[in-house]
Amino acid sequence: MDEKNLVGRIYDIQGFSVQDGPGIRTTAFLKGCPLRCPWCHSPESQAFYPQLSWVSMRCQGTALCESRCIKACAKGAIEPAEQREDAKTGEMLQMIHVKRDICDNCGDCARVCYPKALYLCGEDYTVEKLAQRLLQDKKFYARSGGGVTISGGEALSQADFTVAILKRMKAEGIHTALDTTGFAPWETLARTLPWTDLYLYDLKHMDSEKHKQVIGVPNETILDNARKLAAAGKKLQVRIPVIPMFNNDVENIRATAQFCRELGEAVTVVQLLPYHNLGVAKYLRISDKPVAEATPPSDAQMQKLKAVMEEAGLNVTIH
Ligand code: SF4
Ligand code: SF4
Repeated sequence: MDEKNLVGRIYDIQGFSVQDGPGIRTTAFLKGCPLRCPWCHSPESQAFYPQLSWVSMRCQGTALCESRCIKACAKGAIEPAEQREDAKTGEMLQMIHVKRDICDNCGDCARVCYPKALYLCGEDYTVEKLAQRLLQDKKFYARSGGGVTISGGEALSQADFTVAILKRMKAEGIHTALDTTGFAPWETLARTLPWTDLYLYDLKHMDSEKHKQVIGVPNETILDNARKLAAAGKKLQVRIPVIPMFNNDVENIRATAQFCRELGEAVTVVQLLPYHNLGVAKYLRISDKPVAEATPPSDAQMQKLKAVMEEAGLNVTIH
C-alpha cells in the first residue's frame, strides 16, 4: 500500500507541547500498549480499540437532552444513575451509567451527545491526514527549535504507521522524536533509525523480575534496545517515572544511573518524572474499576534521587 494511505489509530494530538523534546512540539499519541503500568496517567492509551469515554462534568443530565444516549443505545448499555448537583445553578442533574460488560464501543450514543460527555477515544488517521495536521504547526517548530513527537501508548505497536509518519516529517525537514517504552523487537525499532532524531526512552526498573511482576513484561528487551540505539549513535532522553513502593529506592535509582552511564554520550539527559494521581479520574471515564492511588513522592525525596543520579555524572532534571 502507498505509505500515505497507511492507517494508524490516534487517541490524542497535543500542540504547543514543551515536555516531549526540545522546543515547541506537536505530539501525536498512538493508541495501544503491550505494557500495563498500574500508575499509567493515560489509561485510554492502553487498549488498541476505540473506547467509549464518559466525562461526568460535561453531562447535562438526561432531562435536558431527553435521554438521547439512552435511546440511541440499541444494546441497552446505558442506564440512569445517581444525580449530580450543577455547580452553577445548584440544580440536580440525572446522570447516566454505562454498563461496560454490555457496551461494545459502537459509538452510537456518542454521536448524539451534543456536549460530548460521551465520546469515542481513538480515531483512525491516514499518514497523510496526520501529516497535514502536524504541518499546521510547522512555523512554531522552526522558530523554537522544536518539531514533532510520536508517542503512545507504544507507537512501535503500530510500526508501519509510525515509520511512515516519521519519514514523512523528515521529508519536510522537521525534527522528530519517538517516545517509546523500548518494548519491541529490535528489528522493529531499527526501522525508525533513519527517521528519528531523538528517542524519549522510558526506564522503569532495573530488576527484570520486579518489572515483569508489576508491569507485565520483563526488561531485557528494553535494556538491550537502549544499548543498540546508543551503539547506533542515537541520542536518548531517558525518562524515569518515580513510583512510590516500586522504583523509588536509592538502590534501583543507582542501578539505573549506572546503566545510563554505560550508554555513554548517547544519554543527553535523565528526566525524573514524579508520580502524580491526576490520571485517576481518567480511569473512571472508561471503566467502573477503581484504581489504586499512591502518595506522590515529596520534593525532598526527588532531590535526593536526583543527587544520586548526578553523583554518577549524569545531567538530571525533575519534570
Ligand atoms: S451523556 Fe450526553 S446524551 Fe447522555 S445524558 Fe449526558 S449529555 Fe445527554
Ligand atoms: S458505545 Fe454503543 S453499546 Fe456502548 S453505550 Fe454507546 S451505543 Fe451503547
